[in-house]
Amino acid sequence: MFICIDIEKTLYTRTSKLGCEHTYERKKTIVVLRCDNCGEVFKRNKGSMDPNRLNNNFFHCCPDCDPKRFAQKKGAERKIIWDKTVSSLDDISKL
Ligand SMILES: [Zn+2]
Repeated sequence: MFICIDIEKTLYTRTSKLGCEHTYERKKTIVVLRCDNCGEVFKRNKGSMDPNRLNNNFFHCCPDCDPKRFAQKKGAERKIIWDKTVSSLDDISKL
């Protein structure tokens, strides 16, 4: 699940040719997501993501979960619905 886009600031230190230490800041745009498999909140670098996937039309999987296993599980869930008989008494809005 897509939660929000955030900016992460990181401070770095560099040493000049005269030996003085200078700090400088780099901003990184990150995407906060919740894993649709285990529910864990995780962050990803925005640059490493397809911008078309920054919404809730897609499932998101954290680095600890196996996305291929997750996709198979989702497919199996849909198959149960497709294999239902027409005379099934289940409410169609709850599928
Ligand atoms: Zn996960």
